Amino acid sequence: MKTKKIKSSIALKLNMPIVGLCFVMLAFIYAAYLTQDENIQHSQLHHIAKSISENITIAEQANITPSELRSITNILATKKRAQRIIVIQDDIIIDSLDDSTGNRLSDYLTNQEAFIYNNLNSIAKAESSKEFEDYFFYLKKSDSLRIFITLNKAESQITVPNILSNITVIFSAGMLVIFSALYLLQRRLLLSPLAKITQHLTKQSEDDAVSTIPFKGEDELGELVNQYNALIENKVKHDQELAETHQHIDGITNTAPVLLSYIGSDLHFRFVNQIHEDWFGIPIEVFVGNTLEDILGSQSFESIKPEIDKVLAGKHTSFESTIPYQYLEDKSVYINLMPNKKSDDSIDGFFVCIEDISEARRNESKLAEYAQRLEFREFALEEEKVIAERALKIKSEFLASMSHEIRTPMNGVLGMLHLLMETHLNEDQQTKATLAKTSAESLLNLINDILDFSKVESGKLEIEHIDFNLIELLENTTEGLSKLAEDKSISLLLDTSEINTVMLKGDPSRLRQVLNNLLSNAIKFTQHGEVTVTARLCKELSGQYRLVCEVSDTGIGIEQNKLDSIFDSFSQVDASTTRQYGGTGLGLAIARKLCQLMEGDIHASSSPNQGSKFTFTASLGQSEQQDDISYALNLDQTDCIILDANQANTENMAKQLSKWGAQAKTISSPEEAIRHLKAQQNSKHLIVFVNLELPEQSGLDFIKKVKRETTNEHLKCVLMSPLSFNQTNNQFNEPGMSGFFYRPVTKIKLFEAIRAIKNLEADTTKNTPSPIDDIDLPSNKRVLLVEDTPINQLVVSGILSAFDIQCDVANNGLVAIDMMLRSNNYDVIFMDCQMPEMDGYTATKVIREGKAGEYYRSIPIIAMTANAMKGDEEICLNAGMNDYISKPISAQIIKEKLKIWLV
Ligand code: ADP
Repeated sequence: MKTKKIKSSIALKLNMPIVGLCFVMLAFIYAAYLTQDENIQHSQLHHIAKSISENITIAEQANITPSELRSITNILATKKRAQRIIVIQDDIIIDSLDDSTGNRLSDYLTNQEAFIYNNLNSIAKAESSKEFEDYFFYLKKSDSLRIFITLNKAESQITVPNILSNITVIFSAGMLVIFSALYLLQRRLLLSPLAKITQHLTKQSEDDAVSTIPFKGEDELGELVNQYNALIENKVKHDQELAETHQHIDGITNTAPVLLSYIGSDLHFRFVNQIHEDWFGIPIEVFVGNTLEDILGSQSFESIKPEIDKVLAGKHTSFESTIPYQYLEDKSVYINLMPNKKSDDSIDGFFVCIEDISEARRNESKLAEYAQRLEFREFALEEEKVIAERALKIKSEFLASMSHEIRTPMNGVLGMLHLLMETHLNEDQQTKATLAKTSAESLLNLINDILDFSKVESGKLEIEHIDFNLIELLENTTEGLSKLAEDKSISLLLDTSEINTVMLKGDPSRLRQVLNNLLSNAIKFTQHGEVTVTARLCKELSGQYRLVCEVSDTGIGIEQNKLDSIFDSFSQVDASTTRQYGGTGLGLAIARKLCQLMEGDIHASSSPNQGSKFTFTASLGQSEQQDDISYALNLDQTDCIILDANQANTENMAKQLSKWGAQAKTISSPEEAIRHLKAQQNSKHLIVFVNLELPEQSGLDFIKKVKRETTNEHLKCVLMSPLSFNQTNNQFNEPGMSGFFYRPVTKIKLFEAIRAIKNLEADTTKNTPSPIDDIDLPSNKRVLLVEDTPINQLVVSGILSAFDIQCDVANNGLVAIDMMLRSNNYDVIFMDCQMPEMDGYTATKVIREGKAGEYYRSIPIIAMTANAMKGDEEICLNAGMNDYISKPISAQIIKEKLKIWLV
């Protein structure tokens, strides 16, 4: 292990090539040195040989004897370590190895020496040398002396190994130093950081916990560690996320009301959720490692085996089956198996989801049972229903025809009673006749209700779709009941300020019936306070309008638990025989049916002694006559003051006036109103609406006072009075009085009154007089105005008095004829068309027939009508009238007509 470690150590890997390199370098040095050494050796040997030969030459020149020369030769051979020195002096051979002299040279020399000698000898040079592997030969030649020296190389090479060993020692020492320095450097920069990192990583793997390496560095190692640390941080983050995801998955799998598991391809469980424990009564740990068959039992396992094979073949499968349940018998389940494929498409295992459907199965079989039973019952019911419907229809039809049949004689009874009461009856007879009439009337009401109800029940009631004026309908219906309210001192308020579309398509008479019923109930069940009708229209996406109408009162209210039943037929909150309020208990039932037929409904909210609120809705269509009437006014420049002690009334009026743009102020005390009017001295358009009944003084007195105490000539006063107020002409002609209407205040009444004032203003403020202004009307003429609307009576009589023409007013045709019969004073008749009791057309016909007196048979009759439709003039002329004025009436047009007809 250790050796392996050393072998694979980085230090070794780094330094071994360097060591190798050093040896190669050393070898080079050696080789270089050795190459060089041969030359040196040669020159050294040459030098030795030369020195020997010089010594011998010197000795020979000293004429020494051959034996002396031989001694010298021996000494030189020993000293210079020569192998052999041969001197040939005039053919005398002196050999350092041989004592004998005078022998032939060729006998002395070895073959090699002889060869060299001869070779050297043949070279015609004074000195020559030849080198062989072991020996060095030298020959010095002169005429008398030839010297042949043999040097043994091995003996003369003493210096070369010494130099090499020196080089080796120095080189090795240098290498050692370099290696040590290199190692220290490597250790510091590479090996010890690496060791630290390795240590950290080893510890990590031992502790099984990853962490970043506490090492900082700018070099590659530092970069490596940084990269590693970044990776670790990422991993830690991912691990956290993974842990969270695991937690979520665990939570989901353990709370899911299904058995979830993962089974490997060897059919061993690898994961199961908590619910397995409760289902099989086996701890979760036991599942993991056990096979599907171990847990399910071989019987259950066999039954699902084909499906297991399918999923192991890679197919998703789901099926119903039964599996054992620890507490009871096997349970019906729905099993879903989903294969889990590896990247190479082989199957690793499969996911299992088992849903308990035993409850659903039980319910299904129960349902099937019920369904069977119901089917039987339905047959029976169907038959009963057909019989019941037929019976109901027959009953309703019978009731309808019965009520109709009863109504006819009832009308006769009522008519007769009416006639009877016209005759002279004594007091007792009068009382009895009145009682009979009241009873007959309530009987007729009951019959009418029953007739309506049975018509609805038998499906005979059909809803009309005709154009009608919604504001007029709401106002007329409300006004129709104003007398009832006034008699009980209840304020009756109508708020139609939110309605901008006037003409609509629907069934006006049925709407009137519903509103009438709710209003009469509200008045009937209220003793004090007020009854308010608030209506608004909503445009629906379909283009239809939805009418939402609320009738609220401050009456006795209804208990919460009775609220639903009041819409049932013949149902009353107080059903006792001695009950205080009359009624049939059919009104609301009919109203609900009618609303439903008009695609709406009706609801009530109430609390005892607090009052009730009934809201009904109905769907209405768009009328083609949409733009003909809109009751739109622009009162941006107009100041209005409403003087009335009844706050609900003043607020309602102020709301409508503000809608038209007026500055409306509500005041309850006359003194404050006077103060306010004085402050408004400069207002150019100032209208005061005064209630006739004021605290401490009458409205008429107030108007007189206003005229006395204020100086604003633009001030106009409009009087509002209860129905019981009997107006006379004189009162209308009161100075400062510019308008009059009966309560309840409605949009149309306000509109008409203000429009008349504005028309008058327009007439009087004209700067350039028209040609008609110059016309002089004859004096002492008298006009009869036949008109039922007080405001119009006021306007026309005002205009006529301005022309100095006397005017009498008749409320309808009947009154007019009566007045004409009594006086022959009238020169022209202004005749309204629509009037109660006798309309303008009938009255004209009567007059033309001479029934109003022969005197008036051809009197000029000028029609005044709001009907500005095409063909209206023709109708009037056909009825016998002479001329035609359409409303709104202006002074100019009246003057023009009078000019024509008074001449
Ligand atoms: P009725 O002819 O008796 O008025 P309805 O069907 O119109 O029959 O009303 C049914 C009952 O609902 C009434 O008898 C009364 O008890 C109760 N009711 C209706 N409207 C009101 C209301 N505005 N205030 C109190 N109770 C009411």
